[in-house]
Amino acid sequence: MKTDFSNEEFLFKRKDNFLGYNFCPRCAQKLRQEKLDGRARLKCINPECDFIYYHNPITAAGAVVIKDNKILLVKRAVAPKIGWWCIPGGFMEWDEHPSQTAVRELREETGLEVKLSSFFEVYSGNDDPRVNAILILYLATEIGGQLSADDDAMDAKYFGFDKIPKEIAFKSNIQAIADYKERYL
Ligand SMILES: [Zn+2]
Repeated sequence: MKTDFSNEEFLFKRKDNFLGYNFCPRCAQKLRQEKLDGRARLKCINPECDFIYYHNPITAAGAVVIKDNKILLVKRAVAPKIGWWCIPGGFMEWDEHPSQTAVRELREETGLEVKLSSFFEVYSGNDDPRVNAILILYLATEIGGQLSADDDAMDAKYFGFDKIPKEIAFKSNIQAIADYKERYL
């Protein structure tokens, strides 16, 4: 069965129902919902197996890159919200520090090498139908490379804060743009 990534209702339901997981990834027996630590969790039914699925948010990192008082945004080429704009960033790899994730994602999505100047803010989002995400954002400036959309982005552009596109993909991104305006403009 092929997942229809345009069916957001299905994706949100699956996400909130333990991502739709049914079987233990360690021993392949069934997972059963139990109350553990006062919360509903999925536990493997195999008494020999210690697997518990902890339904935790996934960490993402990115950067608010500013040039001539404009902010760098990328147009999404992958679901969800294809064609909508967002702050460049992405999910952390296992062995990365979030600052490394931000620099890597900027390179992959925009072709730019950036220097992070400081931590900006952390956001908790539940409006992505795939996962709940914790988004760590840095402030950054470009130090090299050439602006060209790639990877998960179909376009990458700087926008004046009075010309931000209406279609911004996630609440965390809308809030981050508002926070930047309030703090620096
Ligand atoms: Zn198991």
